[in-house]
Formats: sequence, structure tokens, C-alpha cells
Amino acid sequence: MTRSAIYLDHNASAPLLPQARAAMVAALDLSGNPSSVHGHGRALRNVIETARGQVAKLAEAERGQVVFTGSATEAITQAIIGGAKAFGVDALAVSAGEHMAVLKAAEATGLPVTTVGLDGDGSIRVEDIAAAVAKADGAGLRLLVCVHLVNNETGVIQPVDRVEMLVGPTPHHLFVDAVQGFGKLALEFSSRASDMMAVSAHKIGGPAGVGALLLKGHADAARLIPGGGQEQGRRGGTESAAAIAGFGAAAEVLPGQFYEANVSELIRTAEEGMRAMAPDLVVFGEKSDRIGNVSNFAVPGLKNSVAMMGLDLLGLSVSSGSACSSGKVGPSHVLAAMGVKPELAECAMRLSLGWSSTADDVEGFLKGFGEVVGRHRSRHGRAA
Ligand code: PLP
Repeated sequence: MTRSAIYLDHNASAPLLPQARAAMVAALDLSGNPSSVHGHGRALRNVIETARGQVAKLAEAERGQVVFTGSATEAITQAIIGGAKAFGVDALAVSAGEHMAVLKAAEATGLPVTTVGLDGDGSIRVEDIAAAVAKADGAGLRLLVCVHLVNNETGVIQPVDRVEMLVGPTPHHLFVDAVQGFGKLALEFSSRASDMMAVSAHKIGGPAGVGALLLKGHADAARLIPGGGQEQGRRGGTESAAAIAGFGAAAEVLPGQFYEANVSELIRTAEEGMRAMAPDLVVFGEKSDRIGNVSNFAVPGLKNSVAMMGLDLLGLSVSSGSACSSGKVGPSHVLAAMGVKPELAECAMRLSLGWSSTADDVEGFLKGFGEVVGRHRSRHGRAA
């Protein structure tokens, strides 16, 4: 396997922050069960509660609103399957741009699901949510509305405030997948009208295999794993103190404004550099408000399967933004929902940067991009 020299795929998983690693190693040296009342147990409990405070602070949530889970996928599944049951909703309204974790959990409820569209710039059509709410009101039905804060493929920041204004004052409920916004945007969970939000550790420099569900008190009954009553009965199973410690440490060190200050500039440089070499470059969601760390782009005619292989051979790890768990590159349901033609969507690639990214990384990427585009142009006889 080629060892990639430059990592440009933070949205898939960010490298582990050294502070998170140190916190995990320290926790791994402790023995016991955090639910035990003896000294060993209390030491581990202390690790978990410190991390809960750190995650709560970054999410602007109360400590008691943070439930640690085994991943964001689990948190999402708990919110949707557990929430639908706890709230007694009759149907769901789910945006077409959701991560598969949301789409599959919605399907697994067995309830009717209304799909809410995206516009051509990648934003959730709030008017579709208004229509779904009005229809449910007319039929006397209760909805669970599921949206996301930032799109993992395009980086488009979604109009969650407007969705909250619409859903908040009604008897309907709202879940927000905040995975790609956590640590980059202010979450303000406790002052928001959302009932539930999901976040993940490995997108912010913590370890994979731990996430959190943020729950308002009235949503506490949204449960999936009853088990031994851990997490105040909201998620059974002995907590992975080391993973949670790493999550907390990452939340502690990640400065919220980091992305705007540094990474956005790197993304701008990358897009300008690519456009200078490929003037026909398409940047998806370019007209929308985008998070600063992502660029989802296409060079028309240059298939992502070919380009990514070329970049990989040069030691550059980028993504198509839509890799399935098998590792194969599949068509993007997000770009399809934006109305992007399949032949252009086949050319989409995603650059996602984060805490470890440097100007040298972008320079290295642009060099590789130039080589891959140059090779494609010479093979297909088109001028750049
Ligand atoms: N939601 C979004 C928007 C994501 O980008 C991801 C990960 O790619 C997830 C959910 C799932 O997170 P986890 O890997 O922690 O289960």
C-alpha cells in the first residue's frame, strides 16, 4: 500500500491530535470500571466527567445534555429511532443531503419518510420543510424533522436557524446531525430550538469509535441501548474511558475559530491554484455559505476514479466525498440531489483540511493536481 505523504481528507477522519493521544494513553493506564464506586472506578469516572465538561463546553451544552456513544452513527440512530419512539411521531421529514447514517436510521424506523430537497447550491429547501410541516399539521400528524448543520461532501452550511424557527414553536421535533460543524461553528446547543444533535470525535482530532448525542431534557427518553443504565440510563454499555478522554482533549484544544482563520485561506489558495490550471473547474456549492475547510470540485471529463488514483500514486489522499464503506467510489446522492448531472458528478473530488494542514500540503496538492490534469489533457488532446 502506498503511504500517503499529504493527508487532505479530514472530513473522512482527522488525524489524532497529540493532546488527544496523550489523554488516551493516560486513561489506558487506569484499570477498573467507571461505574464501580471504589477508588479505581472513581478515577475513571473522573476522566469521563472531565471529558463530558470539555465536550459540553465546545458544544455550548449543559454537561447533563451530553451522552457519550460509540460513534456519531450510533448517536444519530439513537436520536432518530429512539427519538421517533419517545416522541411518538407519525412520520419523518429528512433532507436529501443527509449522511447515510441519517438516511438509513430514518428508513429503519419503518415510518413514512418525506424527502426534503436541496437547491442547486446545496442548501436544504426550507420551503419543503414548511410544506411537510403544514401537511402534517393538516393531517394532525407529528413529525421528526432531520437535517444537518454542514454537508460532509460540499461543506455547505445549512440554514438550521431557519429550520429551528419553523419547527421550534410547533409540536414537531428536530434532530440535527452536527458532525461536520462541531468545532468549526458555534453549536450553541442549549440555547437552540433543536431537540437533539449528534457529534463525533474523529472529525475533530479525537479517536474514531466515540461520539455524543446532545439531548434536551425532554428528549432524554430517546434511547437505543438500555443495557446496564450507564450515561444516566440513556446509553447502556461500559464507557470507553480512553476514547472519551481523547474526545474531551480534542474538544478542549480545538479553537473554534481555527478554521476561519487558517484553513479557509488554504482552501482559497487551493481553489485559485486549481482554477489557474483548469479554468473549467467547477466548485460545488460555491455560491453558498461554505465551511472553510472543504472544497468539492470537478474538472469536467476527468473522472474521480482516475484522478484519485493518480493523486494517490503521488502520495496525496483526497476523497470523492462519497466513498462507500467498501472503499469503492459510488455516485454521490448529495450531488444528485443538487441536480448535478451524473457525468459531472463522476468527476467530483473533495479536499478537506483541518488542524494538521499546512501551506506546504496545499502546494504539494497543487503540484500533483497539475500533473494529473496535465496528463489527462495530453491524453485527451484538450488544452488546459
Ligand atoms: N454524519 C456526518 C455528516 C458525517 O460526515 C459522518 C462521518 O463521515 C457521520 C455522520 C458518521 O460519523 P461516525 O463516523 O462517528 O459514525
